Amino acid sequence: MNHASIYLDYNASAPLLPQAKEVMIKTLDNENKALNASAVHYFGREGRKIVEEARIHCAQLVGTQANQIIFNSGATEGNNTVLNHFRDGSILISAIEHPSILETAQTNQNAHIIPVRKNGQIDVNKLEELLIKYSPKLVSCMLVNNETGAIQNVSEISKLTNKYNAFFHCDATQAVGRIPVSVNGIDFLTFSSHKIGGPQGVGALALGLCGQTPTLLHGGGQEKSARAGTENVAGIVGFGAAAQYALKNLDSLSNQTHLRDKLENKIKQISPEVIIHCENTARIANTCFVSLPDHDSQKLLIAFDLEGIAISNGSACSSGTVKPSHVLMAMTNDEKIASSALRISIGWATKESDIDAFLIAWEKIYKRIKG
Ligand code: PMP
Repeated sequence: MNHASIYLDYNASAPLLPQAKEVMIKTLDNENKALNASAVHYFGREGRKIVEEARIHCAQLVGTQANQIIFNSGATEGNNTVLNHFRDGSILISAIEHPSILETAQTNQNAHIIPVRKNGQIDVNKLEELLIKYSPKLVSCMLVNNETGAIQNVSEISKLTNKYNAFFHCDATQAVGRIPVSVNGIDFLTFSSHKIGGPQGVGALALGLCGQTPTLLHGGGQEKSARAGTENVAGIVGFGAAAQYALKNLDSLSNQTHLRDKLENKIKQISPEVIIHCENTARIANTCFVSLPDHDSQKLLIAFDLEGIAISNGSACSSGTVKPSHVLMAMTNDEKIASSALRISIGWATKESDIDAFLIAWEKIYKRIKG
């Protein structure tokens, strides 16, 4: 196995914060007693206490009250939960949503796609036309795109969904902990622990004030019957610690632009034909998404891996075939560009020396492929 030593793939999964790890170990290492938050006994009450503390921190991170937070297994579940709730009605989703939205919407015959502009932002004028044409029950648009990092005009979208009486679901998975996020004007907001330095396999659905509670998993009465299944107490506690960290450090986390600027400027110097996606669009500071047209992203990805650098491409690999990035296809309709994209995403532990190491590898690989 190759051991990559530089990790620049935070948008896929951020490394676990020491603060999260510490509280999780403490929770798991509980002298042979299970902290089942739904049990009535002492250990159950201890579990309940720490889950409720975590709920407060997660709620603060998205500007809401603790009783509006439903813990679940992550953003995939949150997105499925909301879309399933509206499966019998007309819905609108943007073309650049995560597959957990796009694929779930395929099961709804009345799902329609909102196009995006070349700059990576959802076309708000087209959204209004579609709202008038289809009178949908739900509109689902993300806050930050996971590939490009482009920040969407959520306040404009919220105004329109309000005007045309549609519920608004926002997948804020890539935004939370990186820019200020508020559930204000949003009916359902999904986010995930492992994008902010908490553990994988835990997330939350934040409810706005519309009074609806989408529910996917039925059974036990956990999460006030909104999400059945024994709570992942250690995971939730780690999520809470990561939320606390993000609340305290939002300024520095949202201000990694100097690292990204250095990265992009140097890449442009080395390889002038490179395309930096959404370069002039409002973007989160941690994401750099580039294409080297005519060079297959999967091959580039492997070349970086061999240099000990973990990054990602914008393409989805399914059944052994690599598909071009659906996000870039929606933006550019150019398969060459959409098949040659690499994503470099940074986060809480990224150092300038990591960027320097990436640039050395970039130059080496670029010179090699150019022969
Ligand atoms: N939505 C977006 C925008 C994402 O980036 C991701 C993770 N790649 C998800 C949803 C799914 O999140 P999770 O891994 O928590 O299921």
